[in-house]
Amino acid sequence: MSKHDTNQPGIVYIVGAGPGDAGLITLRGVECLGRADLVIYDCLVNPAILEHAPPSAERLCLGSPDTLGRLVPQQEVNARMIHQARQAKTIVRLKGGDCSVFSRNAEETEVLRAAGIPFEVVPGVTAAVAAAGYAEIPITHSAHSSAVALVTGHLPRDSSAAELDYGALADFPGTLVFYMGLDSARHWSRSLLSRGKPLDTPVAIVRRATWADQSTVNCTLGSVAAVVDEKELKPPAVIFVGEAVSMVPEISWFSARPLFGVRVMVTRPRHQAESPRHQAESLCRRLGELGADVLLQPAIQISEPPDWKPVDEALSQLDRYDWLVFSSANGVCFLLDRLRDIGGDLRSLGKIRVAAIGPGTAEQLAEYHLRADLVPVEYRAESLAAALAGEAVGRRFLLARASRGREVLAEELTAAGGKVDQIVVYSSSDVERADPRISAELTDGRIDWITVTSSAIARSLNRLFGDAMHEAKLASISPVTSEVLHRLGFEPAVEASCYTTGGLVEAIVDFSR
Ligand code: SAH
Repeated sequence: MSKHDTNQPGIVYIVGAGPGDAGLITLRGVECLGRADLVIYDCLVNPAILEHAPPSAERLCLGSPDTLGRLVPQQEVNARMIHQARQAKTIVRLKGGDCSVFSRNAEETEVLRAAGIPFEVVPGVTAAVAAAGYAEIPITHSAHSSAVALVTGHLPRDSSAAELDYGALADFPGTLVFYMGLDSARHWSRSLLSRGKPLDTPVAIVRRATWADQSTVNCTLGSVAAVVDEKELKPPAVIFVGEAVSMVPEISWFSARPLFGVRVMVTRPRHQAESPRHQAESLCRRLGELGADVLLQPAIQISEPPDWKPVDEALSQLDRYDWLVFSSANGVCFLLDRLRDIGGDLRSLGKIRVAAIGPGTAEQLAEYHLRADLVPVEYRAESLAAALAGEAVGRRFLLARASRGREVLAEELTAAGGKVDQIVVYSSSDVERADPRISAELTDGRIDWITVTSSAIARSLNRLFGDAMHEAKLASISPVTSEVLHRLGFEPAVEASCYTTGGLVEAIVDFSR
């Protein structure tokens, strides 16, 4: 019986998504997202967090006036949640930061309670705490601050609404953190000054906390309004006011990372549901952890092969082969998943020996509990062929390959006296259109690097972007890829000395130093 067959109402999980960095959601929040039928999210939420929801889940973005999204009225949100919950659906209401801080949580829970809809609240990291961590602002400090106040800078719409008690805030024995305080900076700073808070009280404005483009501006209570105007600072930002702010280091751990402020376009294919290693994602994660702002624009896409029959036939007679040769991690996933899907398992491999073109492919084999018998010293088809050639005479090789790619391996093994069968275990095709926003950013020179991780990707990028590729530096994974770029009229700024994504990242970091 599926959960939708019961007469029980569904449930609403109200989840704090954190302030930006997709890693700052709680484990419980991820669990809830994994069960969602509907996700209703604030526009400030990092879209990467939505990846935790099943692909089938409906997604509803509540826009805001400064985003392009439609602004959905609160009543409509409430009605949607109640209606869906009554259909026994699981709803995640995903909010920026924490759900209890300046987010009208009580209004939503009140409506749900009145409607008899079960709900659960999953806290998140609020912007003040996140900014304090990422900009290293000790919001409490044994010498400077024994309390913290989260204060709204949002001015009441009608004059009858109560004004903040600025006298109390001016005397507050600790750090004030203003949310939504950019537009109203003149108002609240003057109000604090007029109640006696000193002009030179240290202030730090942290914009886009925990995002790759986080920035911090230091000033004083006397200058904050002018600084906001002068620098034309736009939300979201939290503004810290108090002596503890004087303890802020010039460069925090976050902005000291080697690729901080560097924008990189990653062009590897998006992961397949079946591929546990998530190749684009792992490169993105590695770059992201070094501080880069990563834009994912796959240049090629991979999918099932056009015909499984030759693959299934080969899988049913693996004992005829001496070597099973993989030239990509994708090949490993597609072939071994297929083996499982048609009722086989690893025992079907028997005594066959396994070769991998490089460490990424070998790692992928390891995920399936297989150890590669051979990985060449240089991670390219020529080296793999050379490593196998010595004992190729009379041996039978099964090559698991993509629908397109180089013929070198098959040719050289055949020339060395081997008997070679090739099976296409996945299709690789060009992505037809680039995301127009990413194209525009590239043309405007706002992307620093493009990663080029294969020859097919180089050709597809040329088709997608043409001359605009000259606006960014190209990072090539290997001499073979560099050669293709060269023939297309592009000169890579760096080439990985180890032909892996790790080597590529290293080359970009070295260049950036
Ligand atoms: N519930 C949210 C706050 C929502 S109000 C939380 O707990 O963080 C929206 C305000 O939050 C913004 O105007 C800004 O002041 C602050 N904010 C949200 N995300 C932020 C970020 N990444 N960096 C700085 N401030 C942020």
